[in-house]
Amino acid sequence: GIDTWENLPQAWALPHTNQPADAQAHKYHKGFVLVWGGATLPGAAMLAAQAAQKVGAGLVTIASPVQAHTIYAHAMQSIMVRPVASAQDFACLLGDAKRRVCVIGPGAGLETATREAVLLALQAAQSLVLDADALTVFQDDPNLLFSHIHAHQAAGAAPGVVLTPHEGEFARLFPHLDGDRLSRARAAARLSGAVVLLKGADTVVVAPDGRAFVNACAPASLASAGTGDVLAGLVAGLLAQGIAALDAAAMAVWLHSQAAQVVGVGLIAEDLLHGLPVVLQRLAAGGGG
Ligand code: AMP
Ligand code: MG
Repeated sequence: GIDTWENLPQAWALPHTNQPADAQAHKYHKGFVLVWGGATLPGAAMLAAQAAQKVGAGLVTIASPVQAHTIYAHAMQSIMVRPVASAQDFACLLGDAKRRVCVIGPGAGLETATREAVLLALQAAQSLVLDADALTVFQDDPNLLFSHIHAHQAAGAAPGVVLTPHEGEFARLFPHLDGDRLSRARAAARLSGAVVLLKGADTVVVAPDGRAFVNACAPASLASAGTGDVLAGLVAGLLAQGIAALDAAAMAVWLHSQAAQVVGVGLIAEDLLHGLPVVLQRLAAGGGG
C-alpha cells in the first residue's frame, strides 16, 4: 500500500529523539558513514557528510582524492578526511568493519573511479546511498549496477541500498520505464533490487517489494543547488544508526522537508543543516515536527 507521512514521526524510533542521552554513549555506537568525496564539486560531498553528522551518525569520514585533500581538510573540523589515491586505498577504508554505510555520488564526477568505487562498495559496505554521478556513471550499462545490487542483497547485507535519483538521473538509469512517478519508482525498485527514492516536488520512496511512501509536504524552496546532497547524507546517517533502508529513506525525506519549512523562504542547502536540529528537538519534545 501507499502511505503518507502524517502519522509517521510518532511511529518512528528516531535514535536521536526516542532515547534519553545515554551516559555511556560513544561515537562508535552511533554509526559510521564513509562519503566518497569527488574532486569535481567538493561542496556536494561536504553537504552530504555534514547532513549525516547532523542526523546523528557518530563518525563521518570523507574519502578524498589526493588533489582535493587540503580543500576538504580545511573546510571541516569534525569530519575525518582520508586521502584515496587508488581503488585499493578505498577498498582499505571500506574494509574497516566499523564503516558500514557508504555514500557515493554527490560531486563524484563521471570518471571510471566513481564506477569502481560503487562496485567496490557494493561488495564491502553493509549499506549504501547512491546519488547523482554514482547513478549516471552507469547509464551505458545499468544492468551492471543492478546485478551488483542484487548480489549485495543476496549476501544478506541488510539494511540495504538506496538510490536517490531526480527525474533526469532516473531516466538515464531506467530509460524504458514510463507511467506515473509511483509506478515508475515501483518498477525501478523491483528491477534494481534497491530502495528507490525518486526526488521531485512529490518525492516517492519505494522498496523492491512495492511498499511505498509519497511525500506531500516539501516546500518549493527545496528546488535549489545542494539540497539533494543534504538528503543523501540524511539517508546515510539514519542507515548508520541501524534503521532499515525503506524507513531511513522515508524518514530522511520527511526530515528534509521539515527542515526546509523551519528555514522558510530564501533557503540555501547549508541552511538545512541548521534547520534540522530544530526539527529533531521538536520530535524529542513530542511535537511530531
Ligand atoms: P537534487 O535534484 O539532487 O538537486 O535534489 C533536489 C531536492 O529538492 C530533492 O530533495 C527534491 O525532492 C527537492 N525538490 C526539488 N524540486 C522541488 C519542488 N518544486 N518542491 C519541493 N521539493 C523539491
Ligand atoms: Mg543532486
